[in-house]
Amino acid sequence: MTQSRGRPTRWCSSGCKAAGEAEIRRLGTILAKFEEGRAVDALNGHTDQRRAEVIADLSGRLDRLYGVEVQEVAADE
Ligand SMILES: [Zn+2]
Repeated sequence: MTQSRGRPTRWCSSGCKAAGEAEIRRLGTILAKFEEGRAVDALNGHTDQRRAEVIADLSGRLDRLYGVEVQEVAADE
């Protein structure tokens, strides 16, 4: 499959698609649990930095699986 500029990368085969979609479901389930915990924390008036980091990490991995263009920003810029 050819990639055109600005278009998300899509699955290269049906096996690749099935594996990718299974991973999306798995990560989505985990993310929902963490977001539920964050909502409970918010109700109790506090935030959990470690949980926020995990949510950001899971969200980034899901974005990449969905084919969202992720800017890899250089740390020293
Ligand atoms: Zn593939």
